[in-house]
Amino acid sequence: MLGWLNWRLKAAFKRYPFIMFQASSPVVIVGAGPAGCTLAGLLAQRGIDCLVFDDDKRPELLVGESLIPGVVPVFRQLGVEDRVAQISTRKPGASFFVTDGGPRLHFSFKNVESHLPPYSYNTPRPELDNLLRVRAEELGARFVHARAELEPCIKDGQPSIRLSERSREVAGLSAESEPLLVDASGRARTFSRLMAIPANKGERDDVAYFAHFEDFDHDEVENGQVIISVLRAGWSWRIPLPGRLSVGVVISKEHAKTLGATAEERLENAIRQEPLLAEKAMRARRVTPVMTYTNYQLLSERGHGPGWVLLGDAFGFVDPMLSPGLFMSLEGARQLAEGVFANGAEILTQPETLERAMVRYDRRIVEWHHAWQELVKYFYDGRIFRIHLAGKNLAMKPSPFNLANRMERHSTAHIASMASGGWTRSGYSRSLMRMLSRYLVWDVPPAESFAVRQVHRDEPRSKAA
Ligand SMILES: Cc1cc2nc3c(=O)[nH]c(=O)nc-3n(C[C@H](O)[C@H](O)[C@H](O)COP(=O)(O)OP(=O)(O)OC[C@H]3O[C@@H](n4cnc5c(N)ncnc54)[C@H](O)[C@@H]3O)c2cc1C
Repeated sequence: MLGWLNWRLKAAFKRYPFIMFQASSPVVIVGAGPAGCTLAGLLAQRGIDCLVFDDDKRPELLVGESLIPGVVPVFRQLGVEDRVAQISTRKPGASFFVTDGGPRLHFSFKNVESHLPPYSYNTPRPELDNLLRVRAEELGARFVHARAELEPCIKDGQPSIRLSERSREVAGLSAESEPLLVDASGRARTFSRLMAIPANKGERDDVAYFAHFEDFDHDEVENGQVIISVLRAGWSWRIPLPGRLSVGVVISKEHAKTLGATAEERLENAIRQEPLLAEKAMRARRVTPVMTYTNYQLLSERGHGPGWVLLGDAFGFVDPMLSPGLFMSLEGARQLAEGVFANGAEILTQPETLERAMVRYDRRIVEWHHAWQELVKYFYDGRIFRIHLAGKNLAMKPSPFNLANRMERHSTAHIASMASGGWTRSGYSRSLMRMLSRYLVWDVPPAESFAVRQVHRDEPRSKAA
């Protein structure tokens, strides 16, 4: 009988969320992207009442298609890995090329199988977002199909944020209800903007153009291998998706202006101008519009305050190089669900315990950002290719007990794991990278030869370096 009643109530609340009696305040999530929906699903699994504001924006194309192995455990936790696999291409690793016959570096995720799944996925983002949204709903999260309206306020003497009267009404929140608000609004950074919370900016300030192509040749033997190329100017991605290839270029704003007036011209000319891409694009047909994204690196100076917390891109954005974006969104959601809500919704009624848990969450996300930023820099400034070349040279030299070869494999495994979301924050792995790039790079060209450049030069990089 009780089971039947519970089922009837659940069905009624799902259909008419606004009539739900608020026994306690729900967690209110602003934004139904991967961060918001993952958090909603994980909280719902813990029986925590949560409500997601979904603005129903469904662009045809979204960046964030190449995923790293670190996201797979979260898909498993949500029980969606099979569904993700059905819409995706399996990704065995990532390769990094330098144009004009420069070094080629191939990472296989097999290197991480001791602690992470040895693969990941390349996924069309709108489909992935839908899947996560549907799953969160299946698990019991409630969705409000409206854009959340927010306003700044002061709470406990500190800057805070609240829902407008209209948004509370739409969500069916009672006058007494004081929900914890989660900003998962992505690059809109809604809370930080309204509360004027500054952000620390990184060095990059580029623009990205991308589209999907058919018959764009791929360089790699392994089907789903992602290729990142350091071009004569900027860098590019090639992400194999089911039936098509996602191709994007990330270039300086100055260089973009020289490539044409429209996004289409700029992407087309960028491809034509780069030997590494032009040859592969001979038969290619663009099958989607060209999308433009600005690329910057930033991290909010505060991640939480009284009654609010930031998640995913709304907290910070590392860089598209190495694809840590979705991982940070999903990992942030996991940290909130498992760290802050480890003992359920009760914590919302215990301000001091909540504050301590939020400080831990905040610190953890900042640590992740710093670790990713350090790693990404090795790829932008060319040190990663130097380490790779020096390692290869060393491995070919005879050494007692094959030590040099073992050392090479050891360092490759650590770098692969750092780029997979495994040992990214590990003190040992990070020290190893620093040590390799400082002391074990004999007889190889300087890092600048392989660095991502802001300006285009016509002559081959190898000559220009
Ligand atoms: C050029 C480029 C390439 C990238 N490539 C990759 C990659 O290959 N792999 C990867 O993992 N990451 C990549 N990223 C990063 C990735 O796209 C983001 O990290 C990821 O989308 C962040 O997810 P999110 O849920 O935090 O935000 P979003 O995906 O932006 O979702 C936020 C949602 O909130 C909604 N919203 C905003 N305001 C409101 C409101 N007031 N009310 C209701 N809803 C609202 C938005 O419409 C949106 O649906 C790339 C980024 C760039 C710029």
